[in-house]
Amino acid sequence: MITIQGDMLEGGGQILRMSTSLSALLGEPVRVVNVRGKRKPPGLARQHMTALKVLSALCDGYVEGLNLGSTEVIFNPGKLKAGSYKFDVGTAGSVTLILQAAMPVMAFTPGYVKLTLVGGTNNPMAPPVDYIERVLLPNLRLMGVKANLKLNRRGFYPKGGGEVEFSTEPVGKLEPITLDKLGEISEVRGLTYSCRLPEHIVNRMALSASEKLSIIGLKPIFEKEVLQPPNPKCSLDPGCGLILTVKHTYGYLGVDRLGVIGKRAELIGSEAAEELVNLLRGGYPMDKHLCDQLIVWASLADGVSRFKTVELTLHTLTCIELSRIVLNADFKIDGGLGRPSEIECRGVGFERL
Ligand code: ATP
Repeated sequence: MITIQGDMLEGGGQILRMSTSLSALLGEPVRVVNVRGKRKPPGLARQHMTALKVLSALCDGYVEGLNLGSTEVIFNPGKLKAGSYKFDVGTAGSVTLILQAAMPVMAFTPGYVKLTLVGGTNNPMAPPVDYIERVLLPNLRLMGVKANLKLNRRGFYPKGGGEVEFSTEPVGKLEPITLDKLGEISEVRGLTYSCRLPEHIVNRMALSASEKLSIIGLKPIFEKEVLQPPNPKCSLDPGCGLILTVKHTYGYLGVDRLGVIGKRAELIGSEAAEELVNLLRGGYPMDKHLCDQLIVWASLADGVSRFKTVELTLHTLTCIELSRIVLNADFKIDGGLGRPSEIECRGVGFERL
């Protein structure tokens, strides 16, 4: 059995999610020790426990050490099982981070799988559901992934209660993806959203983002989503945010921001737009988050994927190291931590078992 050091590099939840996700895919058990060893407190939180429960359901497996705060788990996978599943984190724990673990497993399950998750959909330090829907998934579809996401209700900290449905049709093998340059831009879009807040917030975010983007000649198409009870999509807590996306010849990139109490809506909009302008001016086809989120997919794909990232993060290095250990995927990195970098990944051509 492979043993993974949960405190290596980033030392957070991603190591646990990714190693158990790959374990489910490969049908081989994994032991993770020092789980979240670089977090305070270390060990399993609700979000990680739910991720493990979801994964074990998807592959008919079982987990040893599945307790709050546990710092060692053994994941024993069985066979991937199509069907419908529903899990509630019970807190505002991020459902998108759970999806990060579940998505590769679901993509390779022989049959239609639907996973409904209840918890936080728009959390700090996690991809907002809008990022999965508008940035990650469109890129994954270019690799052959057949998946859909439906947001039934937004969920913010502290109550959570948001609901997403994610479904997949089986894929045989994944194509590699080349995101090492920015192609011609064919579409710039924005979404500003709010729940239980006055309407002017989404308007101010959108206006300041539009103004910044117009400096480089971009005219985004904006959608505005203003939700109040009793709309069933409205969250239990107030919250807001925005996402800006760009479609270009080779793929999709995006930047997002979550509203913060006490921070002006104009600033949130202009900061996001500024980040996007910097990416576009530098010819970067991805923000720093997309890179770590694509590593596992590139490692599974049949061929060579290439990425040019604005910043090589510890998250990305962690995913690379895990892919090397568990899958034997091959990487070349030109750059370094915290710097703009180019990554080449030779995937292992994983095929549905
Ligand atoms: P821990 O619980 O140990 O703190 P975690 O389980 O919350 O960790 P991390 O290991 O920190 O999760 O992983 C966070 C993931 O969220 C990464 O894949 C990162 O790319 C992604 N992420 C964080 N912020 C954003 C954002 N604003 N937009 C898109 N993705 C994001």
